[in-house]
Amino acid sequence: MTAPLTDTFGRVHNNLRISVTDRCNLRCVYCMPEEVTFLDKSALLSFEEIAAFVRAVAPLGIDKIRLTGGEPLLRRELHELVKMLVAVPGIRDVGLTTNGLLLTSQAQLLFDAGLRRLNVSLDTLDPERFRTLARRDGLPLVLEGLAAARRIGFAVKVNAVAIRGFIEHDAAPLARYCREHGFEMRFIEYMPIGAEAWEREKVFFAHELLELLDAEVAPLVPAADADPNAPAAAFEYADGGGRVGIIASVSRPFCRKCNRVRLTADGKLRNCLFSLDEVDVKGLLRAEAVDAAEVERTVRECVRAKWEGHEINTAKFVKPLRTMHAIGG
Ligand code: SAM
Ligand code: SF4
Repeated sequence: MTAPLTDTFGRVHNNLRISVTDRCNLRCVYCMPEEVTFLDKSALLSFEEIAAFVRAVAPLGIDKIRLTGGEPLLRRELHELVKMLVAVPGIRDVGLTTNGLLLTSQAQLLFDAGLRRLNVSLDTLDPERFRTLARRDGLPLVLEGLAAARRIGFAVKVNAVAIRGFIEHDAAPLARYCREHGFEMRFIEYMPIGAEAWEREKVFFAHELLELLDAEVAPLVPAADADPNAPAAAFEYADGGGRVGIIASVSRPFCRKCNRVRLTADGKLRNCLFSLDEVDVKGLLRAEAVDAAEVERTVRECVRAKWEGHEINTAKFVKPLRTMHAIGG
């Protein structure tokens, strides 16, 4: 049997996040600058190249994939990629993270292609604050997309970034909306990976979110079936009204349990969202015949080189050059 993808801290990697584009139809202030030069289309991995990579890493224990971006639904015929990935032996879970703007027209195609899990990013139900945060309009489209996803039968999580000064207004309305519609609400502590200057003081912390939701929505208790290895701390409403996840990347980093590697849209492999180095795999995937052994060696080396953690909370932290949209969230 092939040895698992293990780093020098004993962490086993089974989770691959694939960015399919760096382009986006929003400009969220916490994620990307207003003005950007996007990658040339020829720099992007083709679906066939992405699938070839997945076929090479599935035997190493990668069984969970999330498609992301930029905005993945901007990538034409994305459902065709989903079809290719769910067919790879060993892949047991494919998910997608989207801002939801283009979801209404694509949801059924994605479902029919085999996708079952969607994370839709939504920071506010207020159109004005939506425009402030996303630097574009789009709230009605996102809500329409969410309704379509629910109708079709997706398991949906709604992701909001917890930024002090914003989320205090939006956390309770968002959580109530999710309770009402059967979506799991997830909050992600604001991380230093966007274009804006980040300060720890701008993070609205997990414990503050819990207090707020307890007081303004309904009492929460730790979920009985919580997975201790999942990045999100899982809670459920004591009255049975659904679940809430909180990803406390800053106040309670989960690096110790990290099982992720990332493939950027231009074919670079990163062993951490905050990596300062990346390894090119596009060259290997564009070779006349993909040498699976060479891909394996490259991936193993990249995983082995993984550092202990992101150091966000220390003076040692160095922000990566690429912002979130260009890495893949
Ligand atoms: N465009 C898609 C979307 O927004 O869902 C997928 C890509 S986006 C980079 C993936 C996730 O990263 C989103 O849920 C977004 O809210 C989150 N994100 C972006 N910048 C962040 C930051 N600075 N801190 C925490 N989460 C962030
Ligand atoms: Fe685009 Fe998603 Fe980044 Fe917002 S968070 S700018 S939707 S990639």
